[in-house]
Amino acid sequence: MRAPKKSQPPSTGPDTFCQIISGELAAPTVHRDGSTMSFLDHRPLFPGHVLLVPLEHVTTLAELPPAEVDHFFRVAQRLETAVERATGADGSLVLVNNRVSQSVPHLHLHVIPRRFRDGLRFWLGPRRPYASPQEAERTAAGIRDALDLTDLTRSAGPPTAAPE
Ligand SMILES: [Zn+2]
Repeated sequence: MRAPKKSQPPSTGPDTFCQIISGELAAPTVHRDGSTMSFLDHRPLFPGHVLLVPLEHVTTLAELPPAEVDHFFRVAQRLETAVERATGADGSLVLVNNRVSQSVPHLHLHVIPRRFRDGLRFWLGPRRPYASPQEAERTAAGIRDALDLTDLTRSAGPPTAAPE
């Protein structure tokens, strides 16, 4: 029996993945630990297409609490290996969509088995080259200005010096 729905802002409602995490919806599960869970995508690009989600609801990768990031990506690494081994794949595609192309508004990392010549080339195009090296440099500078590395221990020191 379902509890009556509480009125909530749309962004915090129980999305499909929260429902899988709570057990309200079934999904073929790969693993579950104290903070993450992985299961099969119900519309796989290829068989063995796995989704890794944090149990705690967040929408984008940037919203994943810093204390969770290390574990989340360590599990992602293990899934990369497991998916490739289990499916006999040549490699894999690991990706996160943030808002755009994000079908469920709950952070999920795709681990997709890949084979050479598997026909998935559309994922990589079309490409839009920079008009000039200057335009590329301006673009990099804009991202540098926007990049906040404060609180990251490895950014606290001076830039790495060349070996003497
Ligand atoms: Zn959710």
